[in-house]
Amino acid sequence: MSRYKVPRGTFDILPADSYKWQFVIDAFREVAREFNYKEIITPIFEKSDLFERSVGELTDIVEKEMYKFEDKKGRILALRPEGTAPVVRSFIENGLNLKPNSSKLYYLGPMFRYDRPQKGRYRQFYQFGIENIGSNDSYNDAEVIGFANMFLSKLGLKNFELQINSIGCKNCTKDYDNALKEYFAPFKNDLCSDCNKRLEKNPKRVLDCKVKTCKVIAGKAPSMLDYLDEDCTTNFNKVQQYLTAMGIPFKVNPKIVRGLDYYSQTAFEFIDTNLGAQNTLIGGGRYDTLAEQLGGKNMPGVGFAGGFERLLLSMGEEKLSLGKQQIPKAYLVTLGDEARIAGIKLLMELRKNGISSEFDPDKTSMNAQMKAANKTGAKFALILGEDELESDKVILKNLENGEQKDVNISDIIQTIKDK
Ligand code: AMP
Repeated sequence: MSRYKVPRGTFDILPADSYKWQFVIDAFREVAREFNYKEIITPIFEKSDLFERSVGELTDIVEKEMYKFEDKKGRILALRPEGTAPVVRSFIENGLNLKPNSSKLYYLGPMFRYDRPQKGRYRQFYQFGIENIGSNDSYNDAEVIGFANMFLSKLGLKNFELQINSIGCKNCTKDYDNALKEYFAPFKNDLCSDCNKRLEKNPKRVLDCKVKTCKVIAGKAPSMLDYLDEDCTTNFNKVQQYLTAMGIPFKVNPKIVRGLDYYSQTAFEFIDTNLGAQNTLIGGGRYDTLAEQLGGKNMPGVGFAGGFERLLLSMGEEKLSLGKQQIPKAYLVTLGDEARIAGIKLLMELRKNGISSEFDPDKTSMNAQMKAANKTGAKFALILGEDELESDKVILKNLENGEQKDVNISDIIQTIKDK
């Protein structure tokens, strides 16, 4: 038994599964290309202050779940718990607002949250996300949602539902926050201690609490939609109009507030209607004040993030194909030292020509090599012995139907390519 185990809440992605990851990553990149989003890669750790300022000090993500550490020079850093703040930080730092074709960005990579692990919730998880920065036109909200919808559909997922809401702007939030404070006041003793803090600082977040009692109480709370000002109402209506034009079904759910402090106006979630407790596949929204909060100019933005783990769980539930395991096309069998040398030369030529090929130097007998060739699932065995060497030939054996023939070594690459 190994002396070491993966840290709690993390997992290895083994060869039997890694191709599935590749499949969803490839599908995501494909949709990004179709929507003309470009990749941005930011560090895995940042100054912890970046997340405290943006995500919010009273959010679970920052208050309880952040992997925070001090480096040798006393800098306080954090493993990134989410992707939006780093992208906006980079956007401002690199003046991407002034560069052409740089306002539509996507990212892929691990995020870290010290949460209680359970199915669909891990301490290191892999997110995909997009950010559309620089415009407050509602078309962009719909485009971002349309991207997510197309991605899920491309994977073949059907059991998902889009829920949208508007959480208003600073203007309308004040009245709403007061209404919430008033509503929750008589329940103070029943709400959890976190919600009591939230009630003071950001009462909307009580609506997001996962504690059962809080959820029940929040069920009858006033709806944000009744407090939206004219601008927010118009924008919310436009988003809905554009989604309808795009043929994307949605439900308005006034209870969606999203956990992070930087959101305003549009908030949305793609929910898997079959998964258990951790059923949000993708979540996102508009964050018009985030750039300013981070010291940049007024640069509104909208984006989403989703987790690959939950996607794979959903795809498993719906019994969807998850790509194909990688198998070599050709397996080289050599007999004798000279044939091995010639074989190795051929092996590299095959690979150079795009034909994936395998050779196992630990197996020397014909029998062992043929058995191994069959086990790999390769389509062809290329057999090279002394007789073949002398006549500059190689035996090409089709392992699917057992047919075999002699082929000139100089023709072998073309012959395999044509099959
Ligand atoms: P959030 O950044 O919390 O809005 O999360 C966005 C998406 O990331 C969620 O909908 C999940 O798909 C995924 N996600 C968030 N936290 C975790 C986690 N601890 N483990 C796995 N996936 C997660």
